[in-house]
Amino acid sequence: MAQTRGKGCLILLYHKIGNPPTGSRQKGLWVSKDIFYRELLFLKERHIPVVGFKEKKEGIILTFDDGYENNFSNAFPILKAFNFKAIIFLVTKYIGKYNYWHNPQNEPYIKMLSIKEIKEMKQYGIEFGSHTYSHPHLDKLKIESVKEELVKSKKMLEEIIKKKIIYFAYPYGKGIYNENIKRALKETGYQYAFTMEKGLNTYEDNFYLKRVVVPNSFKEFKKIVSPLGYYE
Ligand SMILES: [Zn+2]
Repeated sequence: MAQTRGKGCLILLYHKIGNPPTGSRQKGLWVSKDIFYRELLFLKERHIPVVGFKEKKEGIILTFDDGYENNFSNAFPILKAFNFKAIIFLVTKYIGKYNYWHNPQNEPYIKMLSIKEIKEMKQYGIEFGSHTYSHPHLDKLKIESVKEELVKSKKMLEEIIKKKIIYFAYPYGKGIYNENIKRALKETGYQYAFTMEKGLNTYEDNFYLKRVVVPNSFKEFKKIVSPLGYYE
C-alpha cells in the first residue's frame, strides 16, 4: 500500500557486519553479511537514493560507529558492489588494535580498522568522522576532558585522512549529549554531530542529527525505511 512520503534524510546506523562471536551479548549490534547485502539490494532495486552526507537530499545515508575491521572485510566489498558511500566514525585510540573499551564479558575483543584499511576506503570515497579518542561516557567527564577527547581524535584522523574532520558521533548515542558538549564540539571545529535518536533529518540542528540503528532483520529494515515512503 502506498504511504505518504516523508521529508528529509534517513540516517542509518550500523556497527558490526558479520556473525557475532561466541560470548557476544551485543548481538543486536551485528548485522550478517547476507542481510546487509539484501538491504542494500532492496535500496538499489527500488531506486531509493543512498546519498552522500553533503548532498542533503532526501534519501538514505549509511553510517557505521566504532570502526571495526569487519567494516572493511565484510561491509566494504558490498558497498562497492552497489557503488554506495558511507561515513565511518572511528575511536582513534584503538585504530589498528581491538575494542578494548568493551568489557570482554559482554563483547569479546575483535579487530578494529587499520590505518591501511582506512586509507583504502577513503580512496574509494568512504568518509570518516570522530567517535572520540577512547569511547568514554562524555557526560561523565569534565569539560576539559571532553575537549581533549574531541581535539585528540580530530588531530589523529586529520593526519591519517589528510582532510578536515567535521563529523562526530556521540558514543552511547542517547541522552548523553547536552549543550556543554555541543559547545565544545563547535569550539573544536566540528560541524555535524550524530545521535541515536530516531527520526528523519531536516537539519534544523546539525549537532543533534537523528539516526536509526539497523537490527539484524530484513523485515525490520523494511519497516525502518518506510518513513521515506518506499516500503510496500
Ligand atoms: Zn560506539
